[in-house]
Amino acid sequence: MGGYGSREVVVVGAGLAGLTAALNLARDGKDVTVLEKFEKAGGIPLAHPAVDATPFNPELLGNFIGVELGEPFLYPCEEWNMYCYDYKVPMQVKTLNLYCIERGHRKTALDHHLYELCLDAGVKFEFNHPLVGQNDFAELPVDSIISTGLYFEAFEALNIPYQKVFGYLGKGRSSKDYPCLGAWFHDYALDYAYYAACNGVVFCLYFAREPVKDSEFEEYKERQFLGQEGMECQRWDYYEGLVPCAAYNTPRLFSGDKILAGTVSGMIDPFALFGVHGSLVSGKLAAIAHQDKAEAYKLFKEYSKWFNRNLLIRRVFNATPIAIRGMMGGPAKFSQKHAKLFKKPMNDIFKALPGYMVLPK
Ligand SMILES: Cc1cc2nc3c(=O)[nH]c(=O)nc-3n(C[C@H](O)[C@H](O)[C@H](O)COP(=O)(O)OP(=O)(O)OC[C@H]3O[C@@H](n4cnc5c(N)ncnc54)[C@H](O)[C@@H]3O)c2cc1C
Repeated sequence: MGGYGSREVVVVGAGLAGLTAALNLARDGKDVTVLEKFEKAGGIPLAHPAVDATPFNPELLGNFIGVELGEPFLYPCEEWNMYCYDYKVPMQVKTLNLYCIERGHRKTALDHHLYELCLDAGVKFEFNHPLVGQNDFAELPVDSIISTGLYFEAFEALNIPYQKVFGYLGKGRSSKDYPCLGAWFHDYALDYAYYAACNGVVFCLYFAREPVKDSEFEEYKERQFLGQEGMECQRWDYYEGLVPCAAYNTPRLFSGDKILAGTVSGMIDPFALFGVHGSLVSGKLAAIAHQDKAEAYKLFKEYSKWFNRNLLIRRVFNATPIAIRGMMGGPAKFSQKHAKLFKKPMNDIFKALPGYMVLPK
């Protein structure tokens, strides 16, 4: 079964990337089966209902992936407070095309919506079907699509270099009745901490590339999340996952005779290929790759062309001594005050992606 351009396709993982790939292939007349380790579609069950925030243009991205993107799962973000080394910087959300997106199994979630579209298009799902070892992956048909997110099995089976990520996931009821976002950059946060809220749900992530110290996490919860934004989560869960090692050759569309999509493909660049946007785009690219590898690879290179530059920015930031980073609040305030100066560089960061509108002049 299977093979380059063949009629039968297996997709592993029913998250954003896998569902987008499955939907596009089924609409193209393929016989698509999705294998999913959990009992429902939509990624990490522990996190749901969750809210992600991402910058994009829903109309252009929707055209690219063939899905209308809008309410009830997607809303323009109305407020974004950034806390940069204790300076509060209210961001000008209107110039950023930033959206809050509900994730998970509720009817108001993007994953649920994609799942229903897949069913309409004739995609078959096998739930509670985890691939656990190298043999499981090796036995998949040629050109199967691997879109397994942050889970370890595919990284190990396909020998994709990875690094661990750690964090706490929090969820609760939002105390604000509009779509909003908060983010913290500070030494105690190790990497960053943020929350996003819409549809009455608040979802938080305290994220780090090294094991989280409980004292630092408590500080985030009490002083920042509750103290500065008035938000509270009823439930917090510790979380560990994997992402591809950040290196200049990180983004990859293929591994052996398999096609990669979403997080496992390296669509994790925090500036341009990140998260929801990256996984929807790469799900579509995986579907194209099943038909035409050369065309998909050309597009993949184009959409990931800012990766190296963004990785360099990140490395410079990581190498900056803490005392100097502590002065970041100043430049953050300056850039906010002179937002016009920064529109072009910000636009350059995102413009390589389909779906990201040129920032308003
Ligand atoms: C905690 C957290 C917070 C995030 N916050 C944001 C944000 O604010 N903004 C943003 O844009 N993005 C955010 N993201 C990223 C965004 O959620 C992901 O980029 C996106 O979900 C990735 O899509 P994916 O398809 O690669 O993986 P997922 O959506 O995670 O889907 C992977 C699927 O594969 C299944 N699977 C895994 N292993 C196997 C296996 N061995 N066999 C069978 N099935 C398997 C899983 O169960 C899951 O359903 C966040 C991610 C996390 C984890």
